[in-house]
Amino acid sequence: MPQPKVHIIGAGLAGLAAALRLTDGSRRVALYEAAPQAGGRCRSYFDSTLNMTIDNGNHLLLSGNRATLSFLREIGAEDQLKGPAHAEFSFVDLASNERWVLRPNDGPIPWWISQPSRRVPGTRAADYLDVLGLLRAAKGASIKAAIRCEGTVYERLWRPFFLAALNTAPEEGAASLAAEILRETLAKGGKACRPLIAANGLSEAFATPALRRLTAKGVEVVFERRLSALECKDRRVNALSFGGERIDVAAGDCVILAVPAAVAASLLLGLSTPAAYRGIVNAHFKVVPPPRCPPILGVIHGTIEWLFAFPDRLSVTISAADRLIDLPREELAARIWSDVARATQIARPLPAWQIIKEKRATFAATVEDEALRPGIRTEFANLLLAGDWTATGLPATIEGAIRSGFAAADTVLRGA
Ligand SMILES: Cc1cc2nc3c(=O)[nH]c(=O)nc-3n(C[C@H](O)[C@H](O)[C@H](O)COP(=O)(O)OP(=O)(O)OC[C@H]3O[C@@H](n4cnc5c(N)ncnc54)[C@H](O)[C@@H]3O)c2cc1C
Repeated sequence: MPQPKVHIIGAGLAGLAAALRLTDGSRRVALYEAAPQAGGRCRSYFDSTLNMTIDNGNHLLLSGNRATLSFLREIGAEDQLKGPAHAEFSFVDLASNERWVLRPNDGPIPWWISQPSRRVPGTRAADYLDVLGLLRAAKGASIKAAIRCEGTVYERLWRPFFLAALNTAPEEGAASLAAEILRETLAKGGKACRPLIAANGLSEAFATPALRRLTAKGVEVVFERRLSALECKDRRVNALSFGGERIDVAAGDCVILAVPAAVAASLLLGLSTPAAYRGIVNAHFKVVPPPRCPPILGVIHGTIEWLFAFPDRLSVTISAADRLIDLPREELAARIWSDVARATQIARPLPAWQIIKEKRATFAATVEDEALRPGIRTEFANLLLAGDWTATGLPATIEGAIRSGFAAADTVLRGA
């Protein structure tokens, strides 16, 4: 009898994590990916305009992202994430030109809010307690119903923090998602909030070492293989169709569908998935950052929100950027550069640039869409779901995607 086989569809982080967890030798594993490369929405590519390898989008992680760090440890790539030894976030307010560094202390008792030099200028310690409303919010509440979405701490801390984490205007975001982010990061203290970035690019940190590990463990990885249909009978998937090719799913075999929500919905009629999306705009400028430029800079009252300084470029992320996504690229580049130049105090004309618009970057982290996220199991006994859009309790993030992959694999290992 051959060992049972797990067919994983999609080599984004959810699919890679599921495959990694299943390499214990108890099953054969095949991973099918529609694109010519792994990584999905979290990948690097060579950009011929800039003549350098860049990421599809700057990805910020926090040291409290425990599944992500465990994934990186398992693939031998933990050292690819770089960040300061202690939590610190530099900010500039383009309206007032104030600059500050937010420095939460390492431990869970947040004494940093009592220290003016560690907190947001123009705030008092008591102003920070309002956010506890998120932890007490009723099921299905919005952030707006749970906390006051106004005031200096909100504008200069909670809004940028939750906007980045949810990729949705916090005013319309689900309180449960913001609360979970808070619980897993700031509420644990600065040690869980060190900002981390893939200094050598996302693919070097995630996809390339993961593929190396998977192939070494005997996982069959097949690129440019797009699943076009699932053949189901008697509440089981019994074959996979890849255009002209059909692969039998034998008794005892399982399928993990780790594709984006819209693809899963097209393959599985009647599946509930989040329906709305939010875009992200990334801009990359080929310029060496000035010497004192912080590696990550939060920008308040600008078009841009986060500015990342790499040795050879400055890169910008704008979340929930649907208002900008249809603007002409040249106009967008000029507008974004004007903020970058002010934030970094660089006086020079627009350098070589690239703009990447991801229209469907993540599902909208609203109360309505949160309620539509499905669990791991489906109506078919041997078909499981994974992906950042499944009910992970987190917004669409690397951490959520990896946890969903691990959870689907664990379900298989427990005997799905
Ligand atoms: C611009 C941008 C910035 C982001 N910033 C951050 C950040 O700062 N921090 C953070 O934590 N997260 C961030 N995210 C979110 C993060 O990238 C995603 O949550 C995560 O990558 C999703 O992984 P996934 O495996 O669930 O889905 P995907 O990455 O979408 O993977 C799905 C895979 O399935 C493949 N596929 C699709 N259809 C088929 C088919 N029919 N057959 C076979 N394969 C198929 C796709 O090609 C893809 O490789 C950002 C996302 C974007 C787009």
